[in-house]
Amino acid sequence: MVGEPQDDCLFCKIAAGQIPADVVRETETTLAFRDISPQAPTHVLVIPKVHHPDAASLAAAEPAIAADLLREAGQVAGEEKLKSYRIVFNTGSGAGQTVFHAHAHVLGGRGMQWPPG
Ligand code: AMP
Ligand code: ZN
Repeated sequence: MVGEPQDDCLFCKIAAGQIPADVVRETETTLAFRDISPQAPTHVLVIPKVHHPDAASLAAAEPAIAADLLREAGQVAGEEKLKSYRIVFNTGSGAGQTVFHAHAHVLGGRGMQWPPG
């Protein structure tokens, strides 16, 4: 069923507390934790606790939770004292998505190039 936990999903397991993570914020609907392989001085992932394969699918199915995710990304940036930061939603393997549970990357603490690679 849409939004149900998936047995083979790493982020469902982190959301359920079955796999440890360096959690920085938690709400009823979201969890924010540090990326295990940081690409910037601050690199935090914000996930919905419900399973959707990518950010657009989440927004289509549960728009209020998609809004929670963005709000939390902003809260993380504030707590990390980031004046400038980037929120990234890799979508599809060709764009670098490796975990098919919606997540926002919050990256900051260094200069950023545009366009991204
Ligand atoms: P993406 O490539 O956009 O799907 O992002 C998945 C992210 O999850 C990558 O940046 C990984 O470094 C990160 N990641 C993978 N396993 C873990 C883990 N156990 N804890 C925290 N971050 C992880
Ligand atoms: Zn999942």
